[in-house]
Amino acid sequence: MLSAEIIAIGSELLTPEKTDTNSLWLTEKLNEIGIEVKLKTIVGDDELRLEETIRDAVERSDVIITTGGLGPTEDDITRQISAKAIGRKLIFHEALVEDLRERFRRWGREMPEINKRQAYVIEGAEILPNPNGSAVGMLARIEAKVLVVLPGPPRELKPMFETGVLPELKKLAGEIFVKRKILRVSGMGESAVDEAIAPIYKSFEHVQTSILFNRTEIEIHLRAQSGSESEAENTLEELAGLIGKKLGEAVFTTNGELMEEVVGSLLAENGKTLSVAESCTGGLIGERLTDVSGSSKYFIQGVIAYANEAKIATLNVSPSIIETRGAVSAETAEAMAKGMRELAQTDYAISVTGIAGPSGGSEEKPIGTVFIGYADETRVKSVKILLPGDRYLIRWRASQAALDYLRRQILKNFQG
Ligand code: ATP
Ligand code: MG
Repeated sequence: MLSAEIIAIGSELLTPEKTDTNSLWLTEKLNEIGIEVKLKTIVGDDELRLEETIRDAVERSDVIITTGGLGPTEDDITRQISAKAIGRKLIFHEALVEDLRERFRRWGREMPEINKRQAYVIEGAEILPNPNGSAVGMLARIEAKVLVVLPGPPRELKPMFETGVLPELKKLAGEIFVKRKILRVSGMGESAVDEAIAPIYKSFEHVQTSILFNRTEIEIHLRAQSGSESEAENTLEELAGLIGKKLGEAVFTTNGELMEEVVGSLLAENGKTLSVAESCTGGLIGERLTDVSGSSKYFIQGVIAYANEAKIATLNVSPSIIETRGAVSAETAEAMAKGMRELAQTDYAISVTGIAGPSGGSEEKPIGTVFIGYADETRVKSVKILLPGDRYLIRWRASQAALDYLRRQILKNFQG
């Protein structure tokens, strides 16, 4: 597999004023044709640093792409430095000057003499025309390697890359199919997931596996490449299957779906309805569920019962439970779920009550203490969890834990 690196050139890209987006776009394009981007660098308009960077890049990578610094001004140094870094001369192309003069004439202007600088091209390099600007790009072959020099403005770089570079790189990379899969895992930490599945994914040489952590779950990203599309797909299926088997119910999707989509499908498939009583999540669960199109089939009602009085008046929670057990307790969570289910007349109800912080924690019930309640036709139950994070994360994680608790109950109900 070919390795690539991208060098974004321009001092402004080192500041918060301007973000290098070219390399992200290029990385996606390269990945699609099975070329792996292993490094990207941002270099200011500094001759020595740039020369060193390009020289090192040509040393270690198969495909090197630079962006920016091809303009006509003094600080645009990419042209001469890239030539210097690979030990080649710049050759003046009269035809390019003519093109430039013509272009300026069409704009009703005289070409400034400094634009002549843009008619210099690395010796032996292919010229990449620029229909959207004055700087042509260059594609230089260095034995089996390729150095591609592109202008900075995205509207110039993108068409140039797609017409002039991509077909060449495709040939170089050979026909490679890249397939991806995302598995999501809930109720397990990053290291526990890795410990369990590392022996499995390590035996799949042609699949790149990364384990990422986001606000509510662990994601396992799989990327397979192969000369055959079906082989890439089958390899992914096989690996995803093995991981699913190993982690069991903790894997809630092997197709990249969100928890609210998975729960929604389970409810819809089984013809069941749901209502939700939320305290510390303040409507987040309802929002997530209703974000899924088609959710009106199964989601009936949500109640945000934040104050004790609301829990008592709306959800029929007994005042004595709140008094003796507290608003954040297993008993309150269960009473909320039961009351919610009766109020909305649904098959299932879930509830959340907890302490999201930063204030309100105690020794007995520290910040992050959350009780999830569950009620169906025959059972009312709850679970206590202790969630790490700030207020934002605790609320998100509580919403995820509640949806996950429901998911596991439904699986149990329908798988015996
Ligand atoms: P020009 O002929 O327009 O000067 P150039 O090749 O010299 O082109 P730069 O001067 O480096 O390119 O950049 C021109 C503009 O292109 C920048 O101001 C910026 O808006 C955009 N640009 C440059 N590099 C990037 C990048 N890596 N990601 C996103 N935008 C970029
Ligand atoms: Mg410039």
